[in-house]
Amino acid sequence: MKHQNEMQITFPSLPENESFARVVVAAFAVQLCPTLSEIADIKTAVSEAVTNAIVHGYEGTCGLVTLSAAIRDRDLLTIEVRDNGKGIPDIPQAMEPFYTTHPEQERSGMGFAVMQTFMDDLTVDSTPGSGTTVRMTKRIHADKRW
Ligand code: ATP
Ligand code: MG
Repeated sequence: MKHQNEMQITFPSLPENESFARVVVAAFAVQLCPTLSEIADIKTAVSEAVTNAIVHGYEGTCGLVTLSAAIRDRDLLTIEVRDNGKGIPDIPQAMEPFYTTHPEQERSGMGFAVMQTFMDDLTVDSTPGSGTTVRMTKRIHADKRW
């Protein structure tokens, strides 16, 4: 039978939940026998997506962030980070490296570029006024290492 599994957690948009979220996904991904480098990639990508939900989606107000992860097709890890915050009016522009709406907070505009670099695939769905969903996938080729 194919290896399939899934998890979902919802937490308030508090800064301390960014480190909580990345550790949760790392713990879930361990069943795929990732390398330390793959775990580091996954944790970094999740941190960026959750930080964006907290900092940009809710802009310091309190809302809920939902993090889900799934394993499908034996070695494909899918991670979703969803907020019901303010949304992104122009997604291609937001995804450009160095584009940030908060330069005064010393943001570098590299969050989406980092997610793209460390994961195999990244898609962003967003509706201004209702929220943003970031979906990322990564294949963990554990069986090819032996
Ligand atoms: P950095 O991640 O380098 O600290 P940044 O967060 O501004 O800077 P990105 O993560 O690439 O850079 O995001 C680019 C822009 O997209 C943000 O400045 C923000 O305007 C918008 N954005 C990203 N995620 C969200 C979100 N969840 N809700 C609303 N806007 C978002
Ligand atoms: Mg960011």
